Amino acid sequence: MKIAVFPGSFDPITKGHKDIVTRALPLFDKIIIAIGVNNQKQYLYTLDQRVQWLKKVFEGEEKVTVDHFEGLTAHYCNRINAGYLIRGLRNAADFDYEKTISQLNNIVGHDLETVFFISRPQYSHISSTIVREIIKGEGDASPFIPQEITL
Ligand code: ADP
Repeated sequence: MKIAVFPGSFDPITKGHKDIVTRALPLFDKIIIAIGVNNQKQYLYTLDQRVQWLKKVFEGEEKVTVDHFEGLTAHYCNRINAGYLIRGLRNAADFDYEKTISQLNNIVGHDLETVFFISRPQYSHISSTIVREIIKGEGDASPFIPQEITL
């Protein structure tokens, strides 16, 4: 059984995240979208709110479940028997960062493999950071957010 974890903050989920999961679905038997909880980090939305939105977007998608974890992503994957991580790449900055993390995760996570999806061009400008800035500036973030949810 091919189990993959898509880790992230999802603060909030964007169309970019949704597209990555949708494209990864045919490759895996199960995808766990897992919110990494870092007590040092300030989030705009609560963990409960972010979990609810993820569940709503993937409602009816039997292969997808939503979870959260504390500590190292690699340890979480080992604990739940997931052999694969899913990450998205938008640009060279993402690549530089993700390359090192994936090499570390391969060691720490005992041969844990990261599968990368290159962002579709229509989503490569979208980030949760940009969405949070729009929200804070009282702009309309709906073009960047999956249709299933309203912030
Ligand atoms: P993190 O805090 O771990 O970066 P995010 O929630 O920001 O968590 O992102 C989770 C994953 O989704 C990362 O691999 C990120 O590169 C990817 N991602 C975010 N936005 C997009 C997008 N627009 N297109 C493709 N991948 C994306």
